[in-house]
Amino acid sequence: MKIAIMGAMREEIAPILEHLESYKTLEHAGNIFYTGHYGGHELVLAYSKIGKVFSAITASVMCERFGIDALLFSGVAGGISPELKIGDLIMASQLCQHDVDIVAFGHPYGFIPEGTLMVPTDPALRSLASEVAIDMGIDLYEGIIATGDQFVASSERKSWIHETFNADALEMEGGSVACVCHNFGVPCFVLRAISDTANGEASEDFDAFLQTSAAVSATFILAMVHRLGH
Ligand code: SAH
Repeated sequence: MKIAIMGAMREEIAPILEHLESYKTLEHAGNIFYTGHYGGHELVLAYSKIGKVFSAITASVMCERFGIDALLFSGVAGGISPELKIGDLIMASQLCQHDVDIVAFGHPYGFIPEGTLMVPTDPALRSLASEVAIDMGIDLYEGIIATGDQFVASSERKSWIHETFNADALEMEGGSVACVCHNFGVPCFVLRAISDTANGEASEDFDAFLQTSAAVSATFILAMVHRLGH
């Protein structure tokens, strides 16, 4: 299979790139795409830069130019559910855009006409992830992830996102990537390890836990790649 793995930040992709024995690079559309082999598959890796626009560009290029069979997102997120502690893993069942607001016309928050409020991820990839988690003895949380172009560091905003979208975690790229994959018909999987809990201490926690949480997510994604298609 040809599998894309993307993150938003260099720190999210570096622990995966380390596992490729060799790779080639291609510069395109403001990104560097790394291609190589792992676990019997062809891989294409890239980090997009932060946010919905940059991540949509990268995901679109991966779908359109690289002819991928699946896209796996690996990275970190702010936890909303009190069950999620720093370092815990959550896979998105579905994702939304918490910062979309055309409510003045009677639409619900997050809804874009001719779109859907929630975009689901691929059920087969989710069930594979559940099997991998059992084999690795890891608790893998499944829930709604809310995406927006904001670093959330406030209990009020976090509660609003939870109440409005029933979201368990929030970040800045998953919803746009899932939307791109959905439109291209590419199976999508979004995994996040918690780096902070989106409260008043979020920026300090993020800085302290970015690397370790990014590594937790990357390790799990690599285990999934080993099992894909076998
Ligand atoms: N420290 C970085 C900015 C990080 S933005 C810098 O200065 O350049 C946070 C990144 O991690 C985004 O890619 C987002 O997807 C994820 N993330 C983790 N915690 C988050 C939170 N509380 N709110 C929004 N995004 C969060």
